Amino acid sequence: MEDCVFCKIISGEIPSTKVYKDEVVTAFLDLSQATPGHTLVVPNKHVKDIFAYDTDLAAAVFSRIPKIARAVRASNKDIKGLNILNNNGKVAYQSVFHSHIHLVPRYTDNDGFS
Ligand code: ADP
Repeated sequence: MEDCVFCKIISGEIPSTKVYKDEVVTAFLDLSQATPGHTLVVPNKHVKDIFAYDTDLAAAVFSRIPKIARAVRASNKDIKGLNILNNNGKVAYQSVFHSHIHLVPRYTDNDGFS
């Protein structure tokens, strides 16, 4: 989609630090790191939010999350856990309207993310 920042990241038009890419999803570091390693997983196909997924796309995208979560965890021995977040709609704090799943690594009880 023309003016979509995540479509531009997927195509390489806008730089990002990619952590994973295949034919279905692209994963890259969030510009604003909630904790170190904060990663976004986005479908390569432009879908606005969870309400726009069909069953096949949902299965393809969400089935990849555990593998990417393990890769994020493996990137730093201090990662002790991980929050998975997905905002849908402005009232739910979605600010980029290309669906994405946040993987937020957790380090200690005091890692600054709440
Ligand atoms: P929120 O801004 O409330 O977290 P979203 O769930 O829509 O809302 O998250 C959008 C995320 O996209 C934000 O965490 C933001 O830092 C990230 N982001 C925006 N632009 C870029 C970019 N060019 N590269 C990487 N991450 C980006």
